[in-house]
Order: sequence, then C-alpha cells, then structure tokens
Amino acid sequence: MSYCIYLRKSRADRDNPMCTEAEVLSRHEQTLKDLAFNRGYKIDKIFREVVSGETLAARPQMQQLLSEVEGGMWEGVLVMEVERLARGNSIDQGIVAQAFKYSNTLIITPNKTYNPANEYDEEFFEFGLFMSRREYKTINRRLNAGRLASVKEGNYIGSIPPYGYKKIRLEGKKGYTLEPVPEEAEVVKLMFKLYTQDNRIGMARIRNTLNQMGIKPRNGDSWTIASIRDMLENDVYIGKVHWNKHKVIKSTANGSIQAKRPRQKEYDVFDGKHPPLIDEVTFNKAQYYKSLNPANPAQGTMRNPLAGILICSKCGKKMIRRPHSKCEDYVICPTVGCPNVGAPLEIVENRVIEGIKIWLNDYIVKTKNLKPELKIAENKPIIEQIDKNITKLNNQLTNTYDLLEQGIYNKELFLQRQKTLIDEINKLQTERERLTSEDDANRQKEELKQKLIPQIQKLVDVYYTFDEPSKKNKLLKSVFNKIYYTKDTRNSRISTVKDNFTLEFDAKLR
Ligand SMILES: [Zn+2]
Repeated sequence: MSYCIYLRKSRADRDNPMCTEAEVLSRHEQTLKDLAFNRGYKIDKIFREVVSGETLAARPQMQQLLSEVEGGMWEGVLVMEVERLARGNSIDQGIVAQAFKYSNTLIITPNKTYNPANEYDEEFFEFGLFMSRREYKTINRRLNAGRLASVKEGNYIGSIPPYGYKKIRLEGKKGYTLEPVPEEAEVVKLMFKLYTQDNRIGMARIRNTLNQMGIKPRNGDSWTIASIRDMLENDVYIGKVHWNKHKVIKSTANGSIQAKRPRQKEYDVFDGKHPPLIDEVTFNKAQYYKSLNPANPAQGTMRNPLAGILICSKCGKKMIRRPHSKCEDYVICPTVGCPNVGAPLEIVENRVIEGIKIWLNDYIVKTKNLKPELKIAENKPIIEQIDKNITKLNNQLTNTYDLLEQGIYNKELFLQRQKTLIDEINKLQTERERLTSEDDANRQKEELKQKLIPQIQKLVDVYYTFDEPSKKNKLLKSVFNKIYYTKDTRNSRISTVKDNFTLEFDAKLR
C-alpha cells in the first residue's frame, strides 16, 4: 500500500518573518517523511502546492490529489494538519471530506490519524459535517461522474459492504470490489434456501430460525424481517452493482434539514467484479415469492389516518387500508371471511369527523345540567360523619384507662374493650380512605373532561387543515380509544350503499 504527502503553506507560515516559504515547506516535508519512516509507510509521491489559493479551484495540486484519492489510489495522505487539505470554504471542505470518505483513505497528521471509515471518529465527523450543506449538491456532480465510471466498470462504490461480503481494494487498479466473508456467505445462502426450497418458509420464520440458531446480524443482536427482506431482494448477491440505488432526498423536519436515503425504485444495475453468492434461478424464485407477499407500502409513512383506531365490530380486529389502483382506497377488516363489509377510506374518514361533531354536541348537552362540583365532593358529608365517630371512639378509648384505674374494669375486660374500639376505628379509617379516593377519582375525571372537551372541539376544527395522515391519526388517538365500524350491505356503484355503515365511538371521556 502506498502513501503520499501533501504540502501546502498556510497563512500563518506566510506571515512568519523568521523563515522563507521554501524553508517552511521543506521543514514540513522532513517532518512528514520522518513520520512515514517511523510508521513504515512507503511514500510514492509528494504534492507541493506552491500557489497560495484558498479555494480548491485555485489549487491545482490539490485537485490532482483529490482525483487520485477518489480513485482509491492512496492508502493514506500525510499532511501537517487536516486544515491544510481544505481551509477554504465549507463547500471545499465537503468535497474533500466526501472524497476521503468514499475512497476510505486515511488522513495522517503528526498528531492524529483520521479514519473516515470510522464513524465514531468524531473529529473527522465534524470535519465531514459540511457534506450535508446544500451548496455541495452542485459541486457533487463532478465527483459523481468519477464514481459512475467506477460502477460501470463493476467496482463496488458503497461505503458499507453488504452482509456476506467485505470491501477490498482492487489489486493494482483504482477502486474497490467485494470479497465473500465465508461464515456470513453461508448465512446468506441459508436464507435464500429457506425462502425458496420446496418446504419454503416465510420471512418471519426465517428470522426466528436465524435468531434461534444464535446467528447474529452485523449490527444488533437479532434479525428483523426488514433486514431479511432487504437481503432477499439485493441483487449484489448475484454479482450486480448499482448506481443511484439510494438517492439522497432532503426534507425539512422540525425546522432542520434531514437527509433521507430511501431506496430508489429505478436505479442502474451493472455486472460487478465480485463473485456471486446466489445463482440467478434461486434469486428470481425469491423475487417471485416476495412479490406474493409485498412489503407494507405504508411502511415508515402512514397513509391511513384511521390506523389502529377503527375497529371491526364483528371480530375486534383493527381495520386496515387497502390501496386500490383503479378507484379510491378502502378500509377493510383483515380477517378472512369476516362478514363486515369495507368502505372507501375517504367516506369513512368524513363520517368519523361528522360523527365526532354529533357526539360532541350530545355530550355537551348531556353534561350541561349536571353539577360537577357535587360529584367531586359527593362523599364529603359521609367523611365528616366518619371523622366525628372516630373522635368519639378515641375518647372512649381514653376512657378505658380511667375505668381500669377506678377498678371498674378488670385487666381482662379492659383489654377486650380496647381491642373492640381499635378494630372499629380501623374499620372506619379504611372506609374513610376509600371514600376520599373515590372523590379524588371523580375530581380527576372532571379535570380530564375540562381538558378533553376543548381538545375534541379543536380536533373537529383543525382536522382537515392537516395533510399528513400521521398527524390526523395522532389527533384522533388523543381523544378516542376506539371507533367501532359495522357494515352489512355489500358495496355497489350506488354511493348511498357505500355510505351505509355505522360508527360507534369509544372516547377517552365518558
Ligand atoms: Zn372483522
């Protein structure tokens, strides 16, 4: 493996009156050569930046270095300080950080070695933070052109190798490819075999089998269906490489920009240089079985505002959304053979909101004439009576001592009498506690009502201002436990038939 040195003077060097620029550079060169010698690094090239440009565009040596780094030519670059690589603006820093990261090239300074592959290398991470800057996007194109050429050749350009493989540098050439990791490769083969053999099993049972066998995924303790699904559909296992499989999509959430890398539906596939683990027949079989059991399309993003809250009144299952390609989405009961008939989601949703309005009006009318204060303190008079009785009994208890002293009670009678009184006091105290907590519970219920009525009112007012089903869903769940759905008439084209269902609300408030 070979290393190179990058020399560039900084502004501080230039302002140093004690020595000339040439002296500074040659001293740095010696320092880095010593460093390489001590660590056994073989230096094959020295880049000397003689112009003093602050931007990448003004630094031809840096541009040359970067294109070689991107090509994976160097194991590491020796430099006096990280800042010497990119001291200009954040865009330049982003480009540099990205190039080092993708090619997995070390940055070696006399103080510290930065390993971009190590995401826990915080300092590098901070340096690389600039990568998420928006301006980076435009300048990114040049980098991408190089990476695309690399994929077309069949190289692996991802930063993390898929399970079953490790990333290796191509011998004598630029770029990387994949090499099977024997024990992981066996797991990949087993997974495909279980999924496609004659007595095939589903992903959930594959997950259980792997977990029971004590086989661990690379990250984490146990396998998930999602990770198994990802692997079963990854054609890297039949020797392919991809371009644009994960496109970065930026979105704003909570005021900050978040980058997501969802899997693209369309991406370019090329023949990779790495050996396949699975034959194409098996792989295609797996794709066929997988198509029979498609992933929940709503995964991650909720599409049904009634999810988890609309319940089938006939079997108690949560009603689910069934997407329709030709007409509108339906909500249906997931139980096979359940007599409850589904209805268009939008109609059900509208009826839910209408129903809430009616429910709320009824509730307000119903509770208007009740005097809540009374219920809160319903037990107060009884508690007061109990308190009086307890005081009386305590007095009697004190009296027993007098009676004993006066010789009216003998010792036996005294103890018996005392026990009776104490038992009675305890009984009353227990009853007192029960009544007090009943009053407390009523008070809490009343407080909840005070809060929930305006909340339901708000729900009705703002519901349609939300576009996101997940927000609507949260709103509904904040005030209702369940909404029971019943429909006995089968659907036809007549809209009044579609609408022929009943809803029953189970509010958090009663
Ligand atoms: Zn049902």
